[in-house]
Parts: sequence; C-alpha cells; structure tokens
Amino acid sequence: MRNVILIAPPAAGKGTQSELLKKEYGYEHISMGDLLRQEIAAKTPVGLKIAGIIESGALVDDDLTITLLKNKLQEIKGKHYCLDGFPRTIYQAQEFDKVLGELGNEDYVVLYLDLNEDVAYKRIAGRLICSCGKSYNIFEENLKPKVAGICDNCGKELVKRSDDNAESFKTRYQVVLDNFGPIKEYYAQKGKLKIIDVDRDVDLIFHDIIEGIKND
Ligand SMILES: [Zn+2]
Repeated sequence: MRNVILIAPPAAGKGTQSELLKKEYGYEHISMGDLLRQEIAAKTPVGLKIAGIIESGALVDDDLTITLLKNKLQEIKGKHYCLDGFPRTIYQAQEFDKVLGELGNEDYVVLYLDLNEDVAYKRIAGRLICSCGKSYNIFEENLKPKVAGICDNCGKELVKRSDDNAESFKTRYQVVLDNFGPIKEYYAQKGKLKIIDVDRDVDLIFHDIIEGIKND
C-alpha cells in the first residue's frame, strides 16, 4: 500500500474516508491542523514559536510546517499515513518531496476527492447540528431527522452552523478550488494524482481509494 495525500474541497467526506483508512488498513491519519494545535498545546519549542506567530496574526511559515511534518513522520516510523490539510502551496509540496527523499520513502499517491459544487452546497447548506454532537442533512433521506428540526438522539432543537449560507459558501468554495489548481497540476505532472468522484456511496468511494493506493 502507498502513503496518501488527501486533497478535498469542503464537504467531500475527507474525514469519513481517512477514518476508514485508519480503521480498515491501520493508516495513521495526519491532519496538519491537528498537528499544529497539538504542538501548541504541548508547549514544545516549536509549539511556542507557532503560538507566537499565530498570536501576531501572521501565517505559520512553510518551513516550520515542514519541520513539524518531518518530525511526525519520524515518530510514526514507516507506518502508512494519510495526510490531510497539506500541502497548501507548491513550495510546501516541493519541500515535502525533499523530506521524503531524505527519509527514504517517496512512495505516495495524491487522491483528489472531486465533488461538484451543487452537491457540495447541498451537503453543507442542508446540514443541521445538535449540541449533543449529532449531525443531520435535510437533503439526504437517510440523514434527515425523524421530526423536522429536532434531534433524534436527545430531542433538542437543531441548528445551522453560522457559516453554512449560500454566499459565504460560494466564496469559500471558489477560493479553495483556486488554491488547489496549481497543487493538482504539480502532482499530475509527477504522475501522482488520482481523481476520485465522491458524489457516490461511501463504500464505492472507499473501494476506488483502495484501488488507487495499492502498489502496482
Ligand atoms: Zn442531540
């Protein structure tokens, strides 16, 4: 099996698929966002530096991000991993390739979870959440609450996430796709990119993911 870099727009089901990889094949799920948060919480020298950068309102620089990732890969010692939330830039992608060269394992595949904007919008705009943690979708039969607006679990009233409206969605979605463009191109040129249609059942998507990460 190959290591995986998962690239996906919002609502593409990245979390579900990473969980399946972890559960079914023992992959280590590396979320760049979580990695940053854990490092800050652990107050390591790098974590303190990151906290300072974030407090000052700046973006965490590429080299620090790469260092963190390199440490993590050394820590998991050759276990298969599924990376998400990274790379954000071509520079990060190039530097990551250098790191993998140093670590002696460059065998990975980039999976792009492809979702049409209308479907993504329904998934996000139809989403209702409960304070108990359960979530619903009014556009999907199997995810609707039994009683409109009420949680099946605990009977509380369901709410929309504040940023789930059409305007902010379209803007956010476009920004994300624009950012992915050059990164997809970079990996396509290296022959690493596989595109997976995620407007299908979870099982079918996962099947294609497994096909994509098997060694030839
Ligand atoms: Zn509830």
